Amino acid sequence: MSSERLQAPRGTYDVLPEDDEARGVVEAAARSILGGAGYRRIETPVFEHTELFARGVGQSTDIVQKEMYTFDDAGGRSLTLRPEGTAPIMRSYLEHGMHKLAQPVKLWYLGPFFRQEKPQAGRYRQFWQVGAEAIGSDDPAVDAELILLLHALVFELGVREVRLRLGSLGTPATREAYRDKLVAHLRANEDRLSEEVRGRIDLNPMRAFDADHPGTREVMQSAPLLLDELAPEDAEHFAEVRARLDAAGVEYEIDPTLVRGLDYYTRTLFEFTSDALGAQSGVGGGGRYDGLAEQVGGPHVPGCGWAAGIERLLLAADERRAPVEAVDLYVAGTGVEAFALAAEARRAGLAVQLELAGRSRKGMLKQADRIGARYVAILDEEGTQLKDMETGEQERLAPDAVVAHVIRGRHLA
Ligand code: ATP
Ligand code: MG
Repeated sequence: MSSERLQAPRGTYDVLPEDDEARGVVEAAARSILGGAGYRRIETPVFEHTELFARGVGQSTDIVQKEMYTFDDAGGRSLTLRPEGTAPIMRSYLEHGMHKLAQPVKLWYLGPFFRQEKPQAGRYRQFWQVGAEAIGSDDPAVDAELILLLHALVFELGVREVRLRLGSLGTPATREAYRDKLVAHLRANEDRLSEEVRGRIDLNPMRAFDADHPGTREVMQSAPLLLDELAPEDAEHFAEVRARLDAAGVEYEIDPTLVRGLDYYTRTLFEFTSDALGAQSGVGGGGRYDGLAEQVGGPHVPGCGWAAGIERLLLAADERRAPVEAVDLYVAGTGVEAFALAAEARRAGLAVQLELAGRSRKGMLKQADRIGARYVAILDEEGTQLKDMETGEQERLAPDAVVAHVIRGRHLA
C-alpha cells in the first residue's frame, strides 16, 4: 500500500477556521440586505438531473459543453454537480407550485457550485456563490431592484474599484436576427480580421468585440450593435430599468457587447467587475431569463436574478480584521469539577473554553490570554479562584458563585 500523503483535488480548497469569519460576514450581509428586501433563503440539492442543466443552461454554453461534473448513479441516471443556481431554483419553483404564491417569488441562496475549468487565481472547481432570484414578474422594477441589491452587497463588503456594466439582449429571436447581421458584417470585412476571429465567425461572432487586433477593432467600430436592434417593447423595458437605476443614483456603463455564458438570458444583462482583481475580474452578474421556465418544461414564467462569487467578493474586498469571538470564561482545570463548571457556565449562556491539553498553571494563563478570555477560573485543591483578565484582580469564590460573578462582570463591561 502506498503511503503517499493525499491532498485535496486540484481547484478545490479548504475553508479553514480562520477563513470562516470573513465568509460569515458575507453571509450576514447577504441575509440582511436580501432578507430586508423580502427575499427568503432557499437551498436546492448539490446534484440534479443532468438534463436540467443541459436544457436550462443551454447545450451550446461552455458550462454544458465542457465544465460539468457529470456521473451516473447506481440506477444508471445521469446526475450533475450543480454548476449554477438559477435552473435548479426555477425547477424548484415549478415543482412546488410557487406560482400560487404572491408574485414575484423572491429567493436567495448561498452554497457551493462546481465547474471543471482551469484552476487559477479567483477560479476554482468548487467555488461558492451567493445569489438572488425574483420569479414571476417581468416588471422592470424587478431588474432594477436586483441590481441595486447586488450593488448594496458589493459596497457593504467594501469591494474595491467596482464597475457595473449594463446591457440588454432582447429576445432570442432578436438575437438570432442580429447574429446573422453581425456575421454578414464580419464576412464582408473578413480580410481585415485577425486569424483567430476569422476562424470563429460562425461559432462566436460576438467575441470579435473583445479583440485587441487593430484591424479587427477597426472593423468592429462600424459593426451593428444588438442594442440598436431591440424590438420596441424590449427597448422600452431597458429604458425603464435604466430610469430606475438613475433615480436611485447607481452608476453604470452601457455595454452593447456584454454577453454572458448562459443561454437563458433575455432583456436585461449586467455584470459587476472589480479592477482590483486580475484577469478574473467578474465579481457577480446576472440578468432576466424569461425563457428559462419553458426550457425546463414549465409554462411561461418571467424571472430575473444574479449570482456573485464569494471568493472573488473576498479577494476584491478590503481586508478587514475579523472580530475575534468573545470568550467570557476560560476554565483552567482538568478535573470533573472544572468540567462541571464549564457545563454550568454554558447552560447560563456564557462563551466558555475549557483547558483540554493538561497545561501547567502558567501555560493555562498564557492560553487564556491568547484567546482573549475575560475571566479565568483557576481550580485547585482549595476551590476556585476567579481572575479578571482586564484588571488582573483575583478572588477566591464559592464554586456556585463563579457563574453569577462572570455574568455580572459581563454586564458591567
Ligand atoms: P467568468 O467570466 O469569471 O467565467 P462566469 O460568467 O462564468 O464568470 P457566472 O456563471 O455568471 O460567471 O457566475 C457568477 C459569478 O460566480 C462570477 O461573477 C464569479 O464571481 C463566480 N464564478 C464563476 N465561476 C467561478 C469559478 N470557477 N471559481 C470562482 N468563482 C466563479
Ligand atoms: Mg465562466
